[in-house]
Amino acid sequence: MTTSDVSKDTTDGRDLRFIIIGAGMAGILSAIKLKEAGLNNFVIYEKADTLGGTWRENTYPGIACDVPSHLYSYSFAFNPDWSQQFAPGPEIRQYFEDVAERFGVTERIRYNCEITRCTFDNGCWKIEAGDGTTDEGDFVIAATGVLHHPNLPDIESLESFEGAAFHSARWDHSVEIDGKRVGVVGTGSSAVQLFTALADRVAELVLFQRTAQWVVPVANAIYSAAEKKRFRDDPEAIPEVRKAVSAAFIDGFANVLGDMNNPLIQAIHDASVENLESSVVDPELRERLRPNYRAGCKRLVMSDGFYDAIQRPHAKLVDAGIERVEAKGVRSRDGELHELDVLVLATGFRVDQFMRPMEVVGRGGRTLEQAWQGSPTAYLAVSIPDFPNFFMLNGPNGPVGNFSLIDVAELQFDYIMQLVDQVRGGKCREVCASYDAAEKFDDDRREAAKSTIWSSGCTSWYLDENGLPTAWPWSFDRFREEMKAPRLADYHLK
Ligand code: NAP
Repeated sequence: MTTSDVSKDTTDGRDLRFIIIGAGMAGILSAIKLKEAGLNNFVIYEKADTLGGTWRENTYPGIACDVPSHLYSYSFAFNPDWSQQFAPGPEIRQYFEDVAERFGVTERIRYNCEITRCTFDNGCWKIEAGDGTTDEGDFVIAATGVLHHPNLPDIESLESFEGAAFHSARWDHSVEIDGKRVGVVGTGSSAVQLFTALADRVAELVLFQRTAQWVVPVANAIYSAAEKKRFRDDPEAIPEVRKAVSAAFIDGFANVLGDMNNPLIQAIHDASVENLESSVVDPELRERLRPNYRAGCKRLVMSDGFYDAIQRPHAKLVDAGIERVEAKGVRSRDGELHELDVLVLATGFRVDQFMRPMEVVGRGGRTLEQAWQGSPTAYLAVSIPDFPNFFMLNGPNGPVGNFSLIDVAELQFDYIMQLVDQVRGGKCREVCASYDAAEKFDDDRREAAKSTIWSSGCTSWYLDENGLPTAWPWSFDRFREEMKAPRLADYHLK
């Protein structure tokens, strides 16, 4: 610890130490906000050797953010130089590196240090890492991400494949792709992005579709030098874009997800149908690509190139189901062997894990596994009863969907800081959601989840093991309202 790390943070003259876990978007945000609040005694533990979270891990061809970049930026660190409306992944990763450097966060990251255990003991959090590092802090901020643990499909004899096989979030750049026969398993956002990007590069492209996806056509405009200059020179230019895009994404989508009968959802469905009808020429292929559920039930896929890619002469859709993988390729259930050089598993993530496999032990020895029996939950997505001073960013039950998770994390952090202020102001030393408040929140959100579009008849990563959506089931406006100030009566202050 350096002398600059030391401060008297509470009215009763104590220093507060913050342990931030994860140097992705939310961890970097936490560090910047803590510094801004004059709380300089913090460290970020990062298990990898670089920062960037999801943008470090996902490096597949075609990766981009499907939230417009001027919205997918911190509110305090606009970037006039975004190259496109939806910037590619490497540019986003560079943005996080630049911001971390500019705000003096990089030097506070302890790389290659995976936290394996956090134990609340005698009023503070004791931290253990895989490399033997130990630490203690008053607060833990779990900024560990959601789409983080690759979901490896349970496909028979996957290991027998003689070519290269890897998950989309573990792209093997040493494998030659150009001119090869490539198979892609999955039809989510990752699969659609990489399938579209590979179409110009490979000899044969096979898409193994278990479930068809609705696709919304979204063009990706390139910003001209003049536009970038305006973003740089005119202080109103970026806020204007953010306001317009935010209105489209939040009013036009995020606010209506909670009501499957909302006419705006029907409008999105109609636009998706129109995209399919007008883009796919062969009627048989069109029917095979037509989902049998409503648009928005799964996360909307945005692409203006996918239908073109799947109709290329060297592209093939296989929807017969995968029987097994063999040495030479994938055998589908209709008996056909699809010979391949490379097999990409764009099969999503285990979204119920959050900060696990880290062990978290709260007050009285209560473990996270005990607290999360069944399905991960957290009061207003940030706090768990009996886990005092332990807060999550983008934790369970928070808003996820086609909008900016940076926006979500910023709102959550400001809310958490108001809880931290209770400790700073000497009102208590420990703060976490009460059991009553957490239970009521969970009952309400389970009830509300039944009316969301995610409950309208499909499977998706939004659902827990009982088939109930885990995400924030109300409007984004309600989330914003809730995050303005904590209801202290819902918290146990000790
Ligand atoms: P995903 O949406 O969960 O899609 C996984 C795909 O793999 C689905 O099509 C699924 O089929 C298929 N699958 C899984 N197991 C399978 C098996 N055993 N056999 C055959 N198919 C199998 O995952 P993702 O595409 O990685 O996207 C996850 C999320 O990441 C997105 O929803 C989005 O939030 C985020 N993302 C964002 C961007 C962006 O631009 N911002 C880009 C990529 C990803 P079923 O549908 O039948 O289950």
